[in-house]
Amino acid sequence: MKPLEEARSEVLSSVGLLGVEQVPIWQASGRVLTSDIVAPENVPPFANSAMDGFAVRGTDVSASGSVLEVIGDLPAGTSSDLEVGPGQAIKIMTGAPMPPGADTVARVEDTSSEGSKVTISTAVEPGTSVRPAGGDVSQGQVVFSAGTRLTPMHVGVLATIGVAQPEVFKRPRVAFMSTGDELTPPEAESLQPGAIRDSNRPMLLALLEDAGVDPVDLGIIPDDPDVLREALTRAAEADAVVSTGGVSMGDYDVTKHVLQGDAQVDFWQVAIQPAKPFAYGRIGDAIFFGLPGNPVSVLVSFEQFARPSLLKMQGAHAILRPQLVASAGETLDTDPKKTVFVRVVVEGLEEGSPTVAKSGGQASNVLSAAAAADGFAIVPRGTATIEQGEPVTVEMFKWPESREWIDGR
Ligand code: AMP
Ligand code: MG
Repeated sequence: MKPLEEARSEVLSSVGLLGVEQVPIWQASGRVLTSDIVAPENVPPFANSAMDGFAVRGTDVSASGSVLEVIGDLPAGTSSDLEVGPGQAIKIMTGAPMPPGADTVARVEDTSSEGSKVTISTAVEPGTSVRPAGGDVSQGQVVFSAGTRLTPMHVGVLATIGVAQPEVFKRPRVAFMSTGDELTPPEAESLQPGAIRDSNRPMLLALLEDAGVDPVDLGIIPDDPDVLREALTRAAEADAVVSTGGVSMGDYDVTKHVLQGDAQVDFWQVAIQPAKPFAYGRIGDAIFFGLPGNPVSVLVSFEQFARPSLLKMQGAHAILRPQLVASAGETLDTDPKKTVFVRVVVEGLEEGSPTVAKSGGQASNVLSAAAAADGFAIVPRGTATIEQGEPVTVEMFKWPESREWIDGR
């Protein structure tokens, strides 16, 4: 059996980038930057008011009760060359540029106006309520580095600096299929004897979308070598192919029968549980991930091999899920010959003392326990037991949904 780390390094070292393109920021969330982004301009572009109030000279308002002459009005989106002299003020709105001479804003709440006079009722520190030019991003600064996978917040920042068409890596097209004569589409009204619903394919589509790729659904492929061959030929036009089922030891493991002996595809036994059988290689130019059939094995195998590879193909620097260390809320007894992925719920994160407990049955067909889980507690190869209270590493695939909104509280 291949240790997980060895298998993953082998997979990742064979995965390359696809090329680059420019995309409008409107479509850039989830895409990966090809190079550092250097700010071409300051944000904010000019010093401006953080409050509705009066732009003044700080020296005029160092004591409470100063009375100033109002010489103008500055709404946001306007600018003025009118200078604020000693004893003077300009009425200013949030976001309007600071007029020359003024270095401080007195909030409207701290003032009272009468005719052209304004009384500043409290003392105001010089510089108060002014947002300096470049205070958020300064021109010439590296805002984001190459390999950053853009979030909605990154997209917003790119907009602020006028980078409207960032260069990003291309997204891989990923063909995916379920194999198995027993599989029935989830939409079917009823099941024939011996049939089950195809849960892998909808889950895979969601996993692929979450990994930022362009998925191509090839449907359910029966355990028929000719049909599978034909499907694989179509699949090879994509950049990557993900199949489920048919890679273990059974008589009807057609994926294995069709691809075994193919110089480009290897059949591995990875020292992990679940998801020991795994096929990896190339079909034509496409990278091929032959995942097992059981849905939880599909999840584990996708998360450990396919997801990091697909993120690497898109140029992302961060390709692995975040981990945290938690205390085992119960004894975890596992097979010491394998790295075991225990589906767990994480509790006590808010209190800073996370503990984990199994989210349900751990058999590789029990998908409901994976849906209930926040992550995988990883019991490393060589460890048989993690006792209750001992630390365990948890790979988080989602944040626990533990904060409920209770109306009226
Ligand atoms: P296999 O590796 O093809 O023998 O499949 C292993 C187990 O996973 C069998 O019990 C299959 O019925 C089940 N399985 C395979 N593909 C799917 C799928 N797409 N959805 C749900 N279960 C599946
Ligand atoms: Mg099968």
